[in-house]
Amino acid sequence: METCYFDYNATAPLRPEAKAAWLTAADDLWLNPSSPYRAAARVHAHLAEARAVVAGLFAVAAERVVFNSGATEANNAIFAHWAATLPADARIGVSPTEHPSVLAAAQHFFAGRVIWLALDGSGAVDVAALQALLSERQIAAISVMAANNETGVLNDWAAIATECRAQGVPYHCDASQWIGKLPLDRLQTCDFLTGAAHKFGGPKGVGLCLLPAGNSGFMSLHGGAQEFGHRAGTEDVASVLAMVAALREVERGSAQGRDAFLVELGHVLPAVEVIGFAAQRLWNTALLIMPEFASVRWIRALEKRGFLVSAGSACSTGKQGPSPVLAAMGVQADAMQRVLRVSSGWATSAADWLALAAAMADCRAELSSEADDSTSTIISI
Ligand code: PLP
Repeated sequence: METCYFDYNATAPLRPEAKAAWLTAADDLWLNPSSPYRAAARVHAHLAEARAVVAGLFAVAAERVVFNSGATEANNAIFAHWAATLPADARIGVSPTEHPSVLAAAQHFFAGRVIWLALDGSGAVDVAALQALLSERQIAAISVMAANNETGVLNDWAAIATECRAQGVPYHCDASQWIGKLPLDRLQTCDFLTGAAHKFGGPKGVGLCLLPAGNSGFMSLHGGAQEFGHRAGTEDVASVLAMVAALREVERGSAQGRDAFLVELGHVLPAVEVIGFAAQRLWNTALLIMPEFASVRWIRALEKRGFLVSAGSACSTGKQGPSPVLAAMGVQADAMQRVLRVSSGWATSAADWLALAAAMADCRAELSSEADDSTSTIISI
């Protein structure tokens, strides 16, 4: 049975170009790029070239680009940096819908000094309310993601970046779900930008961070002078080259497949609700509240048919409490138990989407025949 993968927001399969770049570099470029001999200088040159490509794609100076192990590291490092450099009583503004690597880092480093930003009805940060906070000089730094990993809802990060710049407040944007799905133009207006290669077809364990121009104090890891002194540690050149190969391939995707799936789903399972349906959101994501049966039962039934989807959060698989994202959006606790997230990417076809709708109808028939689970509350968001 072929696997039909619908969990790109968790991780994307390696693009063939990234795999080829990784294998070649692992064979040819394994020397330490900081070693003193010429052979190592060649490795360093490849790293510098990769940095130049990233700098070109984001239209920034190469010195703003730091390669690292991914978005969790970068997000943590930015809050650590703010905690070390902002006044001791500084408060920071954070969207309550951020990824756990932002939420936990903000709480760890700023504890009671986090101001949770207001959301609009679709789960995006309310920019007018944020502007008011900024003009009252209540916050010393802001963290608002570009696109949400659970709902796909987009924030107006460009407006937030402009406002922050006007007020002289540093702005961090976690763009892990945006990079590789939507255009990179203007992302460089965010002071700190973070992203992860495995979300766009690069390897896991490698990512990138853009720093504000001229920032010299940022230190992700202490030790050697790699990455302009911002992040110590021997660079994983093969992974960086693979990440850049993947980044070169990304192109703007289309919502056609996802939207045709939603239409079809409306026919075969009319009681399904789509979270953030009316909002600006990623073209590849649909966060569904199923009319009945817990997420985990859907996930297992779909997997038996070869379809890999996820719950909106880890709650349904028993790892954590309810999703803070959905809680912040006002989704009721019982509905959270029935959430499914489907997300597509570079290898998904329109036929895959339609096959998923058919499989969901099939699963419903199977689950109904074995069911004693009769939750049926339907909510509208
Ligand atoms: N930020 C967002 C929005 C994400 O979706 C993820 C991935 O789950 C991360 C951060 C963490 O990225 P990484 O896996 O590179 O640590």
